[in-house]
Amino acid sequence: MTEDGVYLGDVVRTRKPHPCGGDTWTVIRTGADIKLRCLTCGRIVMLDRVAFLKRRKATLSRTEQPENNE
Ligand SMILES: [Zn+2]
Repeated sequence: MTEDGVYLGDVVRTRKPHPCGGDTWTVIRTGADIKLRCLTCGRIVMLDRVAFLKRRKATLSRTEQPENNE
């Protein structure tokens, strides 16, 4: 697991929680922009890769199966 790696399906924790109070997210799109779905309220946010990597505190789980997008 590399420090700057981000994969579809990653469950991550961010340094700052979402306004809903949740701080865990699923990665639903990767690339130059990263799309995240809040696991608490279900909202989707998009961050550029650099912003995402700054906000990510930890990767909680990883499937490493790009096709497995729920
Ligand atoms: Zn939320």
